[in-house]
Amino acid sequence: MPMYQRILCPRCHSRFLSHIRRGKRRCKGCGYEFTPWLIKGVRLKDNQIKKIIQWFLLERSGLWIAQRLKIGKNQVYQVLRILRRVMSQDVPSVFAGIVEVDETYLGGQKKNKNKKQLRKEIKLYGKSKKGRGTNKQAVFGILCRSGKVYAQLVEDVEAEDLVPIIRRKVKSGTRICSDTWRAYTGLVTKGYVHRVVVHKDKEYVKGRNHINGLEGFWGYLKRKLAAKGGVQRRYLSLFLGEYVWRYNFRKLTLEQQTQRLIYLLRKLRFSG
Ligand SMILES: [Zn+2]
Repeated sequence: MPMYQRILCPRCHSRFLSHIRRGKRRCKGCGYEFTPWLIKGVRLKDNQIKKIIQWFLLERSGLWIAQRLKIGKNQVYQVLRILRRVMSQDVPSVFAGIVEVDETYLGGQKKNKNKKQLRKEIKLYGKSKKGRGTNKQAVFGILCRSGKVYAQLVEDVEAEDLVPIIRRKVKSGTRICSDTWRAYTGLVTKGYVHRVVVHKDKEYVKGRNHINGLEGFWGYLKRKLAAKGGVQRRYLSLFLGEYVWRYNFRKLTLEQQTQRLIYLLRKLRFSG
């Protein structure tokens, strides 16, 4: 978890500061005037960070950005890591109305198994064991019909893994659409209205009961990760956060997206 950073006077470490012109602060203790860095510990000017954000949003590589700005690539990577953390925290807190839930698998699907095959294996062998020759990662997602997505990596795809997330993120009484996977069968007893989409019956779109929105997001996510040539497992949750954010705010202009990220950086004061 990123740490919240309070701005302190660099000279006397007082936290009593007044805002003066253009983001500058004046220390109420010693009178020192200074401009706080946008990201603590990252010695880049605000306009350099803004450039990094814009090129990052345009999906330029960290190396490309470093060369353009003539700064070290590790500094750029540091900023990109922080941006992904900011994005990962910028998610809707509670879902209501009509929502879709679904799970999928990312990465390392050597034989290109689909979800149905994997579920069959889980049914045969019990829980999907780690180190059983696969390095696929399960991901669980929630989408509300206004188009916003929440997604996180999960250990497994059983009810004990997924239902606590649903109870945390989805308001009680909400109509939840899912497919027939067994993890979702108890949702009614948890106070939800449950609508099941039966894929094999060609019932993909039965009025408002479908999970097309999430399937669209999974497709988007997999195309993006494939275009990166895969992502190391330990960074997967950060990249997931990035693409959930990009998807959720895809209708904003580049400038609006940039301003949102700068606002979040200022508000959250992430440390490098
Ligand atoms: Zn001071």
